Amino acid sequence: VERSLIHAIEEVLTDRSGRISRWTGDDASVVRSRPFAVTSIDSVAQDVHFRAGTPPRDVGWRALATALSDIAAMGAEAGEAYVSLALPAGYEGALELVEGMEELAGRCGATIAGGDVIRAPALVVTVAVTGWADAEEELAGRDGARPGDLVGVTGALGGSEAARLLVERGAEPPPDALRRHLRPEPLLAAGRALAAAGVTSMIDLSDGLATDAAHVAARSGAELRLRLADLPLAAGVDLMAGDPRVFAATGGDDYELLVTAPPERVEDASRAAEAAGTTLTWLGDVTVGLGLVLLDENGDQVPGLEGYEHA
Ligand SMILES: [Mg+2]
Repeated sequence: VERSLIHAIEEVLTDRSGRISRWTGDDASVVRSRPFAVTSIDSVAQDVHFRAGTPPRDVGWRALATALSDIAAMGAEAGEAYVSLALPAGYEGALELVEGMEELAGRCGATIAGGDVIRAPALVVTVAVTGWADAEEELAGRDGARPGDLVGVTGALGGSEAARLLVERGAEPPPDALRRHLRPEPLLAAGRALAAAGVTSMIDLSDGLATDAAHVAARSGAELRLRLADLPLAAGVDLMAGDPRVFAATGGDDYELLVTAPPERVEDASRAAEAAGTTLTWLGDVTVGLGLVLLDENGDQVPGLEGYEHA
């Protein structure tokens, strides 16, 4: 890979962390650590996670957003990102891709602190992110849901999947849905605030509410019961065929946060979400048992939505 491309990428990056003592120009980055490092890595590939022809800035934004969303779900503060770009011969979008990533990094207070560029048969973007915390108690996992807890979800669901399907059909999605699809916002401030407010478990919704809530149930050894009628629906879901609640429960890539909290923490959690610029909708509870149960408006169980695939 041309030295000039690497140099141009380095020129785009801004150090906003205050912890970096060495980054570009050395064999490795040197970062002053805080007591707990929270690390996650994500890859996206063309034709698997995004279509050919997706603007490079959106590809870069989304790749960093999915990685930062995992940091948000742990309740950590965003730190440094390390980026590997696998570029097919003739690909011209590398610099714009990094600019899209850098735009989101700036909004989140993250710093792209290192990386690698290689030639490869297909465009693949890999982002490793490190978030930071000073104490383990500041963080939340998937395993803390307990019988008696209530289940809440931030924002609104289904908009990203609705936009994806509308774009695929050549239709124009509502602006909010398109933004959720192309430029999802990792909920870092909300994640930290909710963890501090005493939620017992937290997960980001990348694969869809039905699938991700089942992860919390499995890891916590409990049953999560969610009322479909109480799902907050994003703009665009109303344009989809079929039951909008089922659509919103199964659509992926929302990057909202699902939390569980004991009743006495519910008010604090709602206030924390609002202070962080979002809302919490309480839509279920945790009981003794194992797995996820979705309930219709009569309180009857809706069967089999896990791994549901939209046409
Ligand atoms: Mg996740």
